[in-house]
Amino acid sequence: MDMNYCMQCGTRLILRHHETEGDIPYCESCAAFRYPVFNTAVSMIVMNEAMDRIILIKQYGKPTYVLVAGYVNKGEDAEAAAAREVLEELGMSVSSVHFNRSHYYPRTNTLMLNFTVTVREEDAHPNWEVDSWRWFGIEEARANIRPDSLAEIFLNGYLDGGVYPFSP
Ligand SMILES: [Zn+2]
Repeated sequence: MDMNYCMQCGTRLILRHHETEGDIPYCESCAAFRYPVFNTAVSMIVMNEAMDRIILIKQYGKPTYVLVAGYVNKGEDAEAAAAREVLEELGMSVSSVHFNRSHYYPRTNTLMLNFTVTVREEDAHPNWEVDSWRWFGIEEARANIRPDSLAEIFLNGYLDGGVYPFSP
């Protein structure tokens, strides 16, 4: 999903050496570097305030449970997007937001940011994007999250202490 043309004027981009960033796409007619463009999304582990239960949702007719997620708007802080998506999809007000980790998802050219958020309400009032929702205990949530999904990696990573092995 590389950008070949300038998003402002349509001129074909060339690679130009940037002093600190290396070779970066450059538009000669705008005289401007054009840094790679990607989407930013948030995914949320939604917990009660006692942090012993987790809400998972089913969406789009699929049989397995996932985390609440959505795209960040231009100009919006990721934390605000996390709270907004939970309010939109579940009708629940978020009382705390904690960043966990990120993962780049090449299929949709999206940098996914995972948060744990807490809500005070017991009952959700989901919108049309949510087929069903349920509170789970911690171990139940691990057992019910969609297998081999990014949601599973985020959920288990958080529940296992949130310190991740890193290799460049
Ligand atoms: Zn241009």
